[in-house]
Amino acid sequence: MKTDFLIIGGGAIGMSSAIALLEEGYNVVLIDRNATGAEASWAGGGILSPLCSWDYTVAVTDLSERSMRMFEKTAAQLFDDTGIDTEYQKCGMLLLPPFQSERASAWCSKHQVRLQNVSLDDLLPGMQGEGLFMPDISQVRNPRLLEALRRRVEMLGGRILEQHEALRFETSGDRICGLDTNQGKLVAGAYIVAAGAWSKVLLGEHALGMEVRPIRGQMLLFKFDVPPFPSILLQESVYFIPRKDGHVLVGSTLEDVGFDKSTTTEALEHLLKRVQALFPDWPSPVRHWAGLRPGSPDNIPTIGRHPHLANLYANCGHFRYGVTMSPASAELLLDAINGRPDPTYRWHA
Ligand SMILES: Cc1cc2nc3c(=O)[nH]c(=O)nc-3n(C[C@H](O)[C@H](O)[C@H](O)COP(=O)(O)OP(=O)(O)OC[C@H]3O[C@@H](n4cnc5c(N)ncnc54)[C@H](O)[C@@H]3O)c2cc1C
Repeated sequence: MKTDFLIIGGGAIGMSSAIALLEEGYNVVLIDRNATGAEASWAGGGILSPLCSWDYTVAVTDLSERSMRMFEKTAAQLFDDTGIDTEYQKCGMLLLPPFQSERASAWCSKHQVRLQNVSLDDLLPGMQGEGLFMPDISQVRNPRLLEALRRRVEMLGGRILEQHEALRFETSGDRICGLDTNQGKLVAGAYIVAAGAWSKVLLGEHALGMEVRPIRGQMLLFKFDVPPFPSILLQESVYFIPRKDGHVLVGSTLEDVGFDKSTTTEALEHLLKRVQALFPDWPSPVRHWAGLRPGSPDNIPTIGRHPHLANLYANCGHFRYGVTMSPASAELLLDAINGRPDPTYRWHA
């Protein structure tokens, strides 16, 4: 059967793109050089929002807000279709001081996002001081989301080829005519690069002005019998994400160290220090991992068609918020394929 679209990369972005295309009736093959859902999308925290939206440009907040509005329905639909619970929950996010109260209030009132001044003791018994609470911020549990996305791709008839590493594109005139992989050549009507942090390297000379590079983030995992608090906590870029089963993720670091996914004692000590400052009685973490974010200038992803190659598209470079942005990015990709590109996320020549 003829392949309409060949997607390279089985993270949240590649699999959400596959679902959007399959639902439009296209024939889709998705390849990943390892297993799907095992890189940044797995390593991330699953907070469905920028950490402090007021620190970002409209390009980031518009795409995030559009996705955030979609996520509740997306998660419910995935549950209905696949039976997998992504653990989507509107748990809210509590900002602990210091924070930029006036900027946060101004941004939230302009964007009609609820923001409440709260006494910390109300949400974290025993903690003194004032906080800012954003009740509508939600989270998903990444491994579950990825499992559900994959199941949905398969249910819709998408073909997933794991252990297939894309090596290089073959061109003919203004078109891609094939993709060399470590398992042989694959041919499709069009090609979509959703290879996360590896997208620019894979594209080689075809990347043109696209700037995507790996930015490492390290995460610690703690385990309690019951969640120690119900909401995400954020204090000066370190966050605590309570899962329903008592796990709490604490992250993260932002490290420009190339394609190196190792964990380090420096990051462990830095994160532990921040944990102990707030919660001196916490036990030791049960796990420590790192992932590579697809870093891009100003956190603005590239979503759309190549400036010169008619059948090559990108959906990559979502940096810190690719899980959040995944459903709306898939919609924007579909718009671009249907001749309605959004110039904000265009592929720079
Ligand atoms: C520690 C950390 C915390 C984060 N927290 C959050 C958060 O709370 N909320 C949020 O929204 N985002 C968060 N993020 C960011 C988010 O995880 C990423 O933006 C998002 O996962 C990017 O998705 P992706 O599908 O583009 O990339 P990935 O998930 O990395 O997927 C890319 C896929 O492409 C495959 N691939 C690469 N090269 C090739 C090749 N040549 N051939 C075939 N396959 C290839 C890889 O194997 C991989 O499976 C976090 C990231 C990290 C690391």
